[in-house]
Amino acid sequence: MPRAGHPRVKTGGPIRFADCRSGRGWLTSPAGLGGADDRVKYSVFSLARNALSEHARWPEAWRSPDPKPAYDVVIVGGGGHGLATAYYLAKEHGVTNVAVLEKGWLGGGNTGRNTTIVRSNYYLEPNAHFYEFSLKLWEGLSAELNYNVMFSQRGVLNLAHAPAEMEAYQRRGNAMRLNGIDAELLSRDQVTAMVPLLDTSPSARYPIVGGLLQPRGGTARHDAVAWGFARAADARGIDIIQNCEVMGIRREGGRVVGVETTRGFIGAKKVGICVAGHSGVLAGMAGLRLPIESHVLQALVSEPLKPVLDTVVTSGAIHYYISQSDKGELVMGGDLDGFNSYAQRGGLRIIEHVIEACLMLFPSFSRLRMLRSWGGIMDMTMDGSPIIAKLPVDGLYLNGGWCYGGFKATPGSGWVFAHTIAHDAPHPLNADFTLERFADGKLIDERGAGAIPWLQ
Ligand SMILES: Cc1cc2nc3c(=O)[nH]c(=O)nc-3n(C[C@H](O)[C@H](O)[C@H](O)COP(=O)(O)OP(=O)(O)OC[C@H]3O[C@@H](n4cnc5c(N)ncnc54)[C@H](O)[C@@H]3O)c2cc1C
Repeated sequence: MPRAGHPRVKTGGPIRFADCRSGRGWLTSPAGLGGADDRVKYSVFSLARNALSEHARWPEAWRSPDPKPAYDVVIVGGGGHGLATAYYLAKEHGVTNVAVLEKGWLGGGNTGRNTTIVRSNYYLEPNAHFYEFSLKLWEGLSAELNYNVMFSQRGVLNLAHAPAEMEAYQRRGNAMRLNGIDAELLSRDQVTAMVPLLDTSPSARYPIVGGLLQPRGGTARHDAVAWGFARAADARGIDIIQNCEVMGIRREGGRVVGVETTRGFIGAKKVGICVAGHSGVLAGMAGLRLPIESHVLQALVSEPLKPVLDTVVTSGAIHYYISQSDKGELVMGGDLDGFNSYAQRGGLRIIEHVIEACLMLFPSFSRLRMLRSWGGIMDMTMDGSPIIAKLPVDGLYLNGGWCYGGFKATPGSGWVFAHTIAHDAPHPLNADFTLERFADGKLIDERGAGAIPWLQ
């Protein structure tokens, strides 16, 4: 139920982008304006100009500075969330004395390893408002960053395999609509017409009875998101430092004063942790234990095909999701490997399960060859929702616990985390995503599955 003070425009009314942009002051400038530095603006004119020099004179997309002795804010983790946080700190709050420290290369973590599904089809209020806000940021992101993140609103279709599942989708779809989010309930015939390659026959192993469609959902190019935010943050004066691993968090008098890194000590008044599957490791450096487990999630792609699938298809019952990339590869995934791990690779058992699910739904893909598979380290919370909050150490903040679905949150997460760091207090949009909810019992358990991280 809506709570007093929740950031809604009117009680019981939908959230609208116009209110996000101005009425509530959530965005201080319209998306598409005031983005990356004009000196390096990408446009048809700069493309033509650089073509004349055979593309030898493009400026570097971002600098590689040496770390300064100290910053106002240090962000640990150069994935989408860390880079988006740095960008919005500069853009929305004028905080530019910021470094992003990345132990490897930008986007080399989950940001560059995910299946790129973007959606806001949530049932519970905190998730619905937060992810819808993020989706609205996605809709203007390429223009905002002056970088093509290839956001493609091709729709996200959840398949229903039983009448009871259809009823649950009806309830979720209605909740979405009440929150101003697009949702359409489809019959089996409509699903068949939309995705003709699906086996919708009654004799299918998992018969399809209908589906829930979010037409504004879709996919984006994952590493372009990291690069776009990096370039735009750098243009606003943020130092992005790669190959710089944080090894310790130094505290004095109960307060954070900086981080120990492979490039020496770097002082910081505030430290924001955005390290996905390593959230527990970083929090441990400050003496904290998080209700987060690290698990491997794999994904795989087929050889490239001509266009055959123009929407994202998911099945909750089989736990399978598939889309076709712009290169033509079928991108798919399924369950976690099911045991704790920090390895960015997984076992064949899950690959086999994912392929089985693929063929149950799309028998005609049986002759495809799979091209490659990989894994990422997921930060699984006990209720399946993230933690975007101050930690109980002064000057320390956490953005983590994204489970299966943090890519779609990237712009919204960076936006509210920047607000939280700048104001030392959460924005109403992330006020519920606290660490304390695991002690006080106010869980945001979207699937009602309880504390079962491998099921979330
Ligand atoms: C296979 C797979 C499929 C997925 N599919 C989807 C999907 O379809 N849709 C969706 O919304 N989400 C999906 N996700 C989840 C999504 O990818 C993540 O939630 C999201 O990308 C997390 O972004 P991030 O910036 O927090 O983390 P990351 O991109 O992992 O960035 C964290 C960075 O921190 C760095 N780091 C770690 N420790 C340190 C240290 N000590 N010092 C310095 N740097 C450090 C890492 O090197 C890494 O680059 C998927 C994930 C995987 C693995």
